[in-house]
Amino acid sequence: MSVSSVLEIQQMPLWEKLKAKGTPLSFDIEITARCNNDCRHCYINLPMDDLTTRAAELSLAEIEEVAVRAARALVGSAVETATGDQSTALGQVADCPQCGRSHALDCQSRDIAVRGGMATVGEPVGHCSTCRRDFFPST
Ligand code: SF4
Ligand SMILES: [Zn+2]
Repeated sequence: MSVSSVLEIQQMPLWEKLKAKGTPLSFDIEITARCNNDCRHCYINLPMDDLTTRAAELSLAEIEEVAVRAARALVGSAVETATGDQSTALGQVADCPQCGRSHALDCQSRDIAVRGGMATVGEPVGHCSTCRRDFFPST
């Protein structure tokens, strides 16, 4: 009798949502293909003294740059996903805070600063023709 099972992420209901949004979840960096331990389960098995492989590896500064860019992309993506969810929760219509009339909402694209970079978010905006003003509903 089996006490465990394997469920690929593509089989999970959450996968379709993540795939549609193109949301990165994590990242890994393999900094070398060389290792002297030769563990049986591992494919990182080129010899430590393989100078051709060593010459093709990234420098420490390059690895740092890749990691920083990946982290920025993760933060930006998380912010864009979260604000997108908020925007969807608001619906298509909102009341003008001044006169109370209902108006359709548009979505304005806006670049915002996030930790380590920028993210482009869709900001819901309504326009009240009576009050002649834009308004920005919040959840
Ligand atoms: S798992 Fe792979 S990388 Fe880690 S020590 Fe073993 S051979 Fe080296
Ligand atoms: Zn109004």
